[in-house]
Amino acid sequence: MSELHKFLFDGMPVRGMIVRLTDAWQEILARRASNTTTGAYPPPVAELLGEMTAAAALMQANIKFNGALILQIFGDGPVKIAVAEAKPDLSLRATAKVVGELPADARLPDMVNAGNKGRCAITLDPKDKLPGTTPYQGVVPLFDDQGEKLGRLSEVLQHYMLQSEQLDTTLVLAADDKVAAGLLIQRLPVKGEGNLEGTSGSDHDQANEDQIGRNEDYNRISILASSLTRDELLTLDVDTILRRLFWEEKLLRFEPQAGLLGPHFACTCGRERVANMIRGLGIEEAEGILAERGDIEVGCDFCGKQYRFDAVDAAQIFTAPGDQMPGSAVVQ
Ligand SMILES: [Zn+2]
Repeated sequence: MSELHKFLFDGMPVRGMIVRLTDAWQEILARRASNTTTGAYPPPVAELLGEMTAAAALMQANIKFNGALILQIFGDGPVKIAVAEAKPDLSLRATAKVVGELPADARLPDMVNAGNKGRCAITLDPKDKLPGTTPYQGVVPLFDDQGEKLGRLSEVLQHYMLQSEQLDTTLVLAADDKVAAGLLIQRLPVKGEGNLEGTSGSDHDQANEDQIGRNEDYNRISILASSLTRDELLTLDVDTILRRLFWEEKLLRFEPQAGLLGPHFACTCGRERVANMIRGLGIEEAEGILAERGDIEVGCDFCGKQYRFDAVDAAQIFTAPGDQMPGSAVVQ
């Protein structure tokens, strides 16, 4: 089962989180793989999307925000767009659009930043939007401060956290065809930090010393966290990972979140919604498609699940309107 673990380092302004997606991630892959139009994700794209999904879950769990967190990469290589969405209840979905071939060993820049035009966007879309409210969106380039292309998603997101939230963050992400997982370590904001003006000399020195001590704690923990390998993150259980990395630190752990209280897959699409959409097309257009292709096939843009209606299904849609559920004509 997919799970999320939160912890604090006792007495230090450092917090951490581990997410481990198994069933939720496998569902995302399975929906795509069974889509006859797209087929399964090529392995490097699956790895990127898995890392994005794990990161979206960590970032959503890390903020107090009542709305969806949407992590998007707009690519200029074979991957045109990759999206992972995490809602406040930690429901997750993800998808990617791939055009053309890509090598089995493609790295992040090959996939999304081949012509230096790729970018990553993080959107916070409030659940109860007032009219006229636009979602907050932060855009991060896929380059470091020296103008070098970033090779890993974790580097891109660490950069974003530092720029947008002024928070030092260490991220380790990994995904394969069974597990998508991530470790996040973050230095907590210290009250009054960066605003030492007006404090007397001695207070100032004390504050500086405290600050240096705190940085050392964070730096030490960050180095330990960064030593976690991809294989360890994918194959070891959370208790083992935490023991191996932080056996000398005192951790305060929270109750793990799993099942419906933890990270889980959810998409708003469904057969009934697609039926309503086909009804919206009208009987003539529906019959036209049936005559041309034999059945009506609609894929969900957000998870890849494909819904197929043959002539008998379609006839039912149009002959029994009284039995249908009212609903939106839009699949989302
Ligand atoms: Zn869907």
